[in-house]
Amino acid sequence: METQSKSDENEAKESNQDSNSSSEQNDDTDKIAQEESSADIKVTLLGTGSPVLSMDRFGSATLVEAGDERLLFDVGRGAALRLDQMDIAPGMIDKLFVTHLHHDHTVGFADLHITAAVPDPRGNREGDFQVWGPKGTENMVNSTIQAFEVDIQTRKKVEGASGLEAEVHEIEEGVVYENNGVEVIAFNVDHGPMKPALGYRINYNGHSVVISGDTTYSENLIKYAKDTDLLVQEVVVVKGPEEEYQSEAHKNIEAYHTTPEQAGEIFKEVNPKLAVFTHIATFLPEHEATIVDRTNEIYDGKVVLGEDLMTIEIGAEVKVIQD
Ligand SMILES: [Zn+2]
Ligand SMILES: [Zn+2]
Repeated sequence: METQSKSDENEAKESNQDSNSSSEQNDDTDKIAQEESSADIKVTLLGTGSPVLSMDRFGSATLVEAGDERLLFDVGRGAALRLDQMDIAPGMIDKLFVTHLHHDHTVGFADLHITAAVPDPRGNREGDFQVWGPKGTENMVNSTIQAFEVDIQTRKKVEGASGLEAEVHEIEEGVVYENNGVEVIAFNVDHGPMKPALGYRINYNGHSVVISGDTTYSENLIKYAKDTDLLVQEVVVVKGPEEEYQSEAHKNIEAYHTTPEQAGEIFKEVNPKLAVFTHIATFLPEHEATIVDRTNEIYDGKVVLGEDLMTIEIGAEVKVIQD
């Protein structure tokens, strides 16, 4: 216990230094053990936006840190910039999981992939960039690399750059990754005409996070997300409950995304400790403030509207860390 207290200044401050009785020391030990286990998985919402341009909400990207693993899910607009804000260099990311091939989930790939070769004291990618995704991912990745071929060849020749190749794993539903106790399970979701579209469940040390990907109400999402600690759920609002659709396009968009009410139905079935919205697409800005209330009319559990760089720690408790 002494060693544990000294190893972490904050915990040392929090533990009661005056308590000498053994029972009180045991209480402290329990508290420290709980605090240490409370961050088995750390999830950071790098981008909570959609294709709609926004300086506040960048494109879809979610970082999951579990044990020694650092996994990126989707790489939308500005993902490398948000990682930099976390003091994570592009070269420190070498595992990417793609949910589907809409550009708001992939357009940051070239930036993250190539900027990883620009000398950075924090780290550069040494091996191949490992990319998992549905059918079509290989073409997206290889075509992007080909589009930047002149740049990539020059960097290799002149700068001796590494990490500029990618190894793509085209995947289907099932366990797609296992390492250091971390398991990633891909599952099919219903994103209308965009097929295939995947969600992901990440399991580590008895805890889990589920990333819905882009989907409308989906029984398969509910099945794979059941009783997870954290559900990172997409949401789209094209109109208020009493309003008319402004166009056929709006109606079609809504049909393959999740409305706040549908999210409420999903959460009721999934029963997550915490649900957090990402991919927050509203076509009228005033709709954003209504999302959580609309969801809570269906579901009375804890729901949070995500923000870029919001972190959620998962362990004995699920805690939102925001600064
Ligand atoms: Zn999509
Ligand atoms: Zn999307």
